[in-house]
Amino acid sequence: MRQSEFRFYAELNDFLAKSRRQVDFAYPFRGTPSLKDAIEALGVPHTEVEVILVNGVSVAFDHRLHAGDRVSVYPVFEALDVTPLVRLRPQPLRQPRFLLDVHLGRLAHRLRLFGFDAAYRNDWSDAQLAEIGPRERRIVLTRDRGLLMRRAITHGYYVRATRPDLQLLEVLRRFDLGGSLRPLTRCLDCNGELCTVTPEHIDPASVPPDVEARQLPLVRCSDCRRVYWEGSHVLRLRSVIAEVERQLQVARQEDLA
Ligand SMILES: [Zn+2]
Repeated sequence: MRQSEFRFYAELNDFLAKSRRQVDFAYPFRGTPSLKDAIEALGVPHTEVEVILVNGVSVAFDHRLHAGDRVSVYPVFEALDVTPLVRLRPQPLRQPRFLLDVHLGRLAHRLRLFGFDAAYRNDWSDAQLAEIGPRERRIVLTRDRGLLMRRAITHGYYVRATRPDLQLLEVLRRFDLGGSLRPLTRCLDCNGELCTVTPEHIDPASVPPDVEARQLPLVRCSDCRRVYWEGSHVLRLRSVIAEVERQLQVARQEDLA
């Protein structure tokens, strides 16, 4: 067996066995595995990693590990402080677009509520997710490490929280989206964009008579044609939105403190 030395930084430690967190540790291996394989063998999905240094030099995932190498592995956030180094992915995705696995339907719904493009279906297989993510340039959100270890997936994020409200806050903070909220601009059912419509342009059967009589503002999904109006449902959503905005504010103040 050969041996090299690894150190993982910041939240990458979440994936390691307890004895390996926040310390340098020896990693025994055979042959010359790629760094991607070695890092994933230690439990860390490659999508969580932004910069790898081997003996102080920035390298790519396909770099081969040799005996005696000292390897430092940094996550996305830590990498903000090391901009002169080579990043593992050429450019970040501009507007974040998400793809959620079958277990994160409630998070998908919440992301849509805030206007984010969140593709989700409850019958997509892992193989389909691995194909759709890169093709549509989407960030895969999942609580399944195995999915993130698929080679095809270049942009992904392992969601730590288990409660949907906390998952939403986690994703908004992780991708720094607090300033990009566009509540009630996207269809909660199908992820389509909502457009304002005037009553004469919609099927009278799609809104109740009292909504029509009160001439409430209407929006319609450009994909599934569902019509939304300012009723009790939307008022309830507005209170959810206000609460999330308040929590983001609190989190920002904690970050500054
Ligand atoms: Zn729709």
